[in-house]
Amino acid sequence: AAMVKETIRVYARVKPLGRRQQAGSYSIDNEEPLPSLEISVPRDLADGFINNKRENYKFKFQKIFDQEAKQDVIFDSIAKPVAECVLAGYNGTIFAYGQTGSGKTFTITGGAERYSDRGIIPRTLSYIFDQLQKDSSKVYTTHVSYLEIYNECGYDLLDPRHEASRMEDLPKVTIMEDSDQNIHLKNLSLQQATNEEEALNLLFLGDTNRMIAETPMNQASSRSHCIFTIHISSKEPGSATIRRSKLHLVDLAGSERVAKTGIGGHLLTEAKYINLSLHYLEQVIIALAEKNRSHIPYRNSMMTSVLRDSLGGNCMTTMISTLAMDKRNIDESISTCRFAQRVALIKNEAVLNEEIDPRLMIAQLKKEIQDLKDELALVTGKQRTSELSQEELLQLDELIETFLKDNDPDSSLDVGADMRKIKYCFVHMKQIINHPRTSGKKLLSQDISEENNSNEELEKLKGLVQQRDNEINILVTMLKKEKKRVRDALSQLNATSAGSTILEQSSPSMSLEESQSPSRCFSLKEEKVFSPSVPRLPCPSRAAGGKMSLGSQEAFEVFKQDHADSITVEDNKQLLKQRFDEAKCLGEKLNEVRNKINQLKGRIIQRQIQRAALAVSNPSEELTFDSVEENLRMQIEEEKKSYKVMQGRFKGLKVEIEHLQLLMEKVKMKLQKDFEVWWSEEAKKIQQEKPEMVTSPNTATVDPQFIRSSQHLSPNSSSDTTRDSLYEDPAVKNNSITFGNPTLKTRTPPSSSTSIPLTGDSQADADILAFIKARQNILQKKG
Ligand code: ADP
Ligand code: MG
Repeated sequence: AAMVKETIRVYARVKPLGRRQQAGSYSIDNEEPLPSLEISVPRDLADGFINNKRENYKFKFQKIFDQEAKQDVIFDSIAKPVAECVLAGYNGTIFAYGQTGSGKTFTITGGAERYSDRGIIPRTLSYIFDQLQKDSSKVYTTHVSYLEIYNECGYDLLDPRHEASRMEDLPKVTIMEDSDQNIHLKNLSLQQATNEEEALNLLFLGDTNRMIAETPMNQASSRSHCIFTIHISSKEPGSATIRRSKLHLVDLAGSERVAKTGIGGHLLTEAKYINLSLHYLEQVIIALAEKNRSHIPYRNSMMTSVLRDSLGGNCMTTMISTLAMDKRNIDESISTCRFAQRVALIKNEAVLNEEIDPRLMIAQLKKEIQDLKDELALVTGKQRTSELSQEELLQLDELIETFLKDNDPDSSLDVGADMRKIKYCFVHMKQIINHPRTSGKKLLSQDISEENNSNEELEKLKGLVQQRDNEINILVTMLKKEKKRVRDALSQLNATSAGSTILEQSSPSMSLEESQSPSRCFSLKEEKVFSPSVPRLPCPSRAAGGKMSLGSQEAFEVFKQDHADSITVEDNKQLLKQRFDEAKCLGEKLNEVRNKINQLKGRIIQRQIQRAALAVSNPSEELTFDSVEENLRMQIEEEKKSYKVMQGRFKGLKVEIEHLQLLMEKVKMKLQKDFEVWWSEEAKKIQQEKPEMVTSPNTATVDPQFIRSSQHLSPNSSSDTTRDSLYEDPAVKNNSITFGNPTLKTRTPPSSSTSIPLTGDSQADADILAFIKARQNILQKKG
């Protein structure tokens, strides 16, 4: 297989300084041959006397991106080359490494606010689907998966059962190794995504599930690894070769050291785990860098097992070290850079992932045999049937007889370039030697003709046929084995994961016609234009849930206004509105152009009819070139061109609108989640200050688990979100911020200290609201 030798490419990206952060001292030199980042820190004061010396560290990178580098530049320079390799059939991995808050998620997934802040994953999806669409020479199938690894346990962020159960209760993703040491991930679903929109929806779905699973106690985003994988398989029509490749986009857990964070108890265990898995990642990487190292310790952690075929060997691997260069984080940044230097030592050999489809191979070999037979017939001038005819046999007998009787030592037996005849002669001679009496026929002499050349060729061809026969036998055996494997895998799959699809399903072919012929009509009703092909994120608050009391509803309004995110929501709403208007306008123009094209076509037909009629009534007149028609055709071409341009823009707008909508939904979900946390905290405070409320009969225990379980989302959930609800706050519209799912009602009511006022008791909620407002007044006066 084709091979590409590469070291792991290591880049650095410096995050912009925060408003109150003090800049650390560093400099970047992006000149050839290898760019370097120099960090300078004050000398240790350990010896007890002060000096002004500084210590300098210099690190080499493929390229260093300073604070102002934008997401599109990052994509173009770092991710695009990897995406291109993946499109060509190699595996690829991009991982972001750095301490919490240094910009890993921002780089890999993107910021939650602006469209221009979208990160490597959405940009890569867009790029890949664009390229696939352009290439009609192959049939492509794409799937995505989204895995979170937390404390060495794997969770499927796209598991459809997210809706019904808590993350912890879902079946864990586990690693299985087959006899060929290939890694299979049990319980990780591969969701087919036929276009950018579907893939983006899946990404947002996974992100939202991840966000919801996160509680203050479980800051999963800094303590877990997330791996978004794009699987591509491709095949040329009729070819036996299937290319499979995958691209892992990895958001690693924070790399900060335990000692510094100084946390105890539960969190310490987690931190230790994170460090362990990053430590194992480093061990694998170091082992890969060593020459002649046969054992690579992949199995030490889930992370390294999953990336097994995508770190060393068969892969294009890229790492982005994310750095926060303010004074307080310089230490961590240096240790991130050190890690990066070790990673940069690895030499990878990326291998093209090709495998052969035995069925197609057999078909090809059969065809080759037929071709060879035809060639043979051409050389010998005879069509071959399997048996020699009676007549031919008699002729041969005569030839043999002649040959045997000929006393001339130079005489030879020549039957031409036909193996069957040659074989027959030998058999016949053997018979004559063994049973001399049975062959009493006369033998005739014969001339030698010059057919040696074609004889040789015939032998070659015969040999080839034999070889192909053998190959077919081998392939048939392979096919049987393969069938059995597929059967086994299927039964395993059925037993384990309901949501996954088999990778080999052929994708619905992407029709090119749609973009070429202006036959589609654009009707632009806002709710309907962009009907999603993957179910949308449902509203966080379920209609089935309890109603939000007036008190908490009002509180939510207040909370929303105070919340920084709501500004973004407003901005995005504006932008969305603009984009909708643009899309609408463009849609109308598209319709106009379409009509125009149809009109022009009508005129051409009319013209042709007229000229045909003229030709009939005036047969003598010759049909000449019609410049009018030609002119009309040119006009149509022009219109088509502008149609195509507009359609391209329309598509771009559509993607942007989709993205904005998803961003807004996500921000809203976050807002509501924050509100719930804040609301229950407020409630607790009130209980402490107004203990008599605890005894209120209208309180119910809210188990935080219920809050979470009711909100997990699934790709298959039937979403009741409609487009038009996007302009309103879903929570307010449905009037139902819920504190849990409906099962809450059946739970045993009031227990003691953790109870908070719930829906229904407007008096209690009004009390809280009054309290909140009072608090806010006080706070405002203080500030
Ligand atoms: P991590 O995932 O490493 O913990 P994040 O990606 O969440 O860090 O970044 C922390 C914060 O800094 C986020 O609010 C993010 O939007 C912001 N941020 C990170 N990198 C950049 C950048 N290059 N430009 C603008 N904002 C950034
Ligand atoms: Mg993060």
